[in-house]
Amino acid sequence: MEPDPRPSLAVWKFASCDGCQLTLLDCEDELLPLTDRVRITHFLEMSSAEDSREPATLAGTGPYDLSLVDGSITTAEDVRRVHHIRRISRRLVTIGACATAGGIQALRNFADVEEFRAAVYADPEYIATLDTSTPISAHVPVDFELRGCPIDRGQLLEVITAFLAGRKPNISSHSVCFQCKRRGTTCITVAQGIPCLGPVTHAGCGALCPAYGRGCYGCFGPMAQPNLEAMVRELRHDGMTERDIVRVFRTFNAASPEYGPVPELATQQAPEPPAEEEPR
Ligand code: SF4
Ligand code: SF4
Repeated sequence: MEPDPRPSLAVWKFASCDGCQLTLLDCEDELLPLTDRVRITHFLEMSSAEDSREPATLAGTGPYDLSLVDGSITTAEDVRRVHHIRRISRRLVTIGACATAGGIQALRNFADVEEFRAAVYADPEYIATLDTSTPISAHVPVDFELRGCPIDRGQLLEVITAFLAGRKPNISSHSVCFQCKRRGTTCITVAQGIPCLGPVTHAGCGALCPAYGRGCYGCFGPMAQPNLEAMVRELRHDGMTERDIVRVFRTFNAASPEYGPVPELATQQAPEPPAEEEPR
């Protein structure tokens, strides 16, 4: 039999809600033409039929031309598996906030995991977990990171076609503000004083929330070189407390290194308490 000339694509899952993998399935009209160009050899969300060369494990033998990795690293087994996947992948792209910034599950990084474990599980001794949830890039080299919770299907298709063509993905790292301007949305912060993370958040959603009169809460994670100092000052000006600011930055991208300075900036920029009046 003639060897299949199409490059192979594998999709891997770590700790996540699977929403980013579903985005690939959601490509619908584009999915069938895509399969003319690539051979999807490992994608458990789509099919239980694994690559025939693979043993029945969650990590195949490869090699794969392109691996898309969804989810964050939360167990010792995850660490072992992601190193294996890196070894058998020519290109490795992480998809979504979980894989690029630890995801919602990285909220554990700022809390006591033992306390969670005891509160949630009837038999916590059976739960094997790390104290942290970390992005894939904290463990292995990554060729490209696609942000979003969930990712944007147009950006995902651009990433896949770019790697098939051997070029860099054409994904701008500018902010949500640019997308507001492009769709003609009046700035909700300037016009209405609504707190919005748009100035520091990576574009990709088409500025969805501001278009409906709601402030961006940063689900696409950090843009390139975000000016956090100015952003925190603006959020303070729009009425957010120190606690609210830390919470809004941590919601989806808690383990993002770019957001590391936020708690200190929020504390530094806390308003002075009102001076006590002298007794008359
Ligand atoms: S980034 Fe969001 S949508 Fe994607 S897997 Fe994680 S939680 Fe789900
Ligand atoms: S929270 Fe921000 S990045 Fe997420 S969909 Fe809304 S506007 Fe877009």
